[in-house]
Amino acid sequence: MGIIRELSDSLANRIAAGEVVERPASVVKELVENALDAGATQVDVELEEAGMKRMTIRDNGHGFYPDDAELAFVRHATSKIKDEHDLFRIKTLGFRGEALASIASVSKVTLKTKRADQEGVQLILEYGKLLERSASAMNRGTELTVEHLFFNTPARLKYLKTTHTELAAITDVLNRMAFAHPEVKFRAIHEGKVLIQTNGSGDVRQALASVYGHQTIQGTLVATASNADYQLTCHLVKPEVTRASKNYITLILNGRSVKNFALSQAVLNGYHTLLPIGRFPIAVIEVTMDPLLIDVNVHPAKREVRLSKEAELCQLIQETIRMTLSRETLIPQVTKPKPKKDPSAQERLDFSYSVDPVEETSSRAVWNYPIPKREAVHETEGRQADQAVSFEGEQQEEVVENAGRTEDNRPKFPHLDVIGQLHSSYIVCSGEDGMYLIDQHAAQERIKYETYKVMFGRPLEQQQQLLLPYTFEVSSDDMKRMEEILPLLLEVGIELEAFGPQSFIVREVPTWFPSHRQEETIQELMDEALMKQKVDIEQYREDAAIMMACKKSIKANHPLNEEMMRRLIVDLSQTEMPFTCPHGRPVIIEWTTYELEKLFKRVM
Ligand code: ADP
Ligand code: MG
Repeated sequence: MGIIRELSDSLANRIAAGEVVERPASVVKELVENALDAGATQVDVELEEAGMKRMTIRDNGHGFYPDDAELAFVRHATSKIKDEHDLFRIKTLGFRGEALASIASVSKVTLKTKRADQEGVQLILEYGKLLERSASAMNRGTELTVEHLFFNTPARLKYLKTTHTELAAITDVLNRMAFAHPEVKFRAIHEGKVLIQTNGSGDVRQALASVYGHQTIQGTLVATASNADYQLTCHLVKPEVTRASKNYITLILNGRSVKNFALSQAVLNGYHTLLPIGRFPIAVIEVTMDPLLIDVNVHPAKREVRLSKEAELCQLIQETIRMTLSRETLIPQVTKPKPKKDPSAQERLDFSYSVDPVEETSSRAVWNYPIPKREAVHETEGRQADQAVSFEGEQQEEVVENAGRTEDNRPKFPHLDVIGQLHSSYIVCSGEDGMYLIDQHAAQERIKYETYKVMFGRPLEQQQQLLLPYTFEVSSDDMKRMEEILPLLLEVGIELEAFGPQSFIVREVPTWFPSHRQEETIQELMDEALMKQKVDIEQYREDAAIMMACKKSIKANHPLNEEMMRRLIVDLSQTEMPFTCPHGRPVIIEWTTYELEKLFKRVM
């Protein structure tokens, strides 16, 4: 007596139709999913020519009943669902009973399987036809070998890419499986070379380490959150480590790795300005929920899913990531990797994060050389906007106090004493843990960006009449779009009145508006709005704040006196995300005392 049965026609027809196996990676995915559904704790994959010549997937799961072995290769025969009701509560990775039938129809398959309480069985099938059935002496589990994949479908065979590309796709599948199931020991070998090997400890971080290396995942943050519907665990590799594509974000919903544009976008929104433009994070986002909330029956290869409450989940993800990152001290440390230990590590200065406990220092270096006072540099910018963010003005605070605190109540931003300025561009500081360099332009950009963003949110509170109104000429091309963008500009406090057929006039500006080169700034805000494809106030505010912050910040090569530097650090320490500029570049880097002592050979 077996457990596999054929689905009724009506149920089979409700299953998302389409190609289940299109390339070796999809075969690997289906077979590994079967192993996991069989309760395997260990899965071994062996590949030749990226699986195109041959692949074997071996597991220690429950195995097939002898009576089921042949039935498993019939289309829509499955042990995992029985009726329509089950289709809405899927707890297994497979459910359609299609994979084995599809794979067997385009290859030569050898199945060896044994349940603990049954005789072992071996089946050999070629292009869907059973060639041989015999007994198989083996331990509990299943071994499935696929050979000559797509040999009988030359069109498909031609479509396959190079071994290298197919292997990359397989590796991607296996990596995601390993992150989704850290409790399973995975081992994959391609022509004698290990592709992936995990220890099955149940810890996602260890799976991440085996894929990306310990160095890369050092300091990975783990955040958990939940609401009435979802339990969320995020593994966030430090934002300093980035990749060129979104592909390194793994979304795991109820143990299944899926693609979902909105959820990936929520992850990126969570990182926000911590990532440089065009760079993406490495993150594993695990979500568990009632299976009723997730429809997995929408994509033939089960890559995509439909969620009933997608917007709520997006918000939970975005806020959790944002809050977690905003609580952390994310200062890249300048470290010299130990030579030879990691063969890929080069002899160069490398950045890594200080989120992990820093190694204890035996003694503290004494810095604080007296620095010559310089003359205050004349501030070229207007006062109103710069009050919150400039170096001008009253007596400076003696102690740099920090607004933000980390979860364990340490100040997020270190207490820093100014030592001096380097190349009129970097502020050199000493702190408890070492020496810090601050990029003065990036720091002011961050400060101004956060200020402008708040200001753009409440623009019409206080306006100030201009003595001489500004007039703007608009090209006839741009005239067509002016009506659309006028509300955007009004949102940031700039009211443009029609003034002749192709010109506009501005009579007042918000009181916080920087006074220097106002006309130019308004023109740039107009240009920024005209560049937009669609009208999105939030996005416009964001982009306008970044643009103005960049234009209005002190550049490199600008001498600052000590007070200006101190002021800048105080303002920086009070921002929400002091460690990167709005473009995601670092604002501050650290040489730990320990690293310095190593460089001076005071410690080994
Ligand atoms: P599905 O996974 O959708 O049920 P498949 O064609 O992948 O469909 O597999 C058909 C059936 O074969 C499964 O329902 C399961 O009962 C059985 N099976 C497949 N692979 C294994 C395995 N590795 N161990 C035990 N049983 C398996
Ligand atoms: Mg399956």
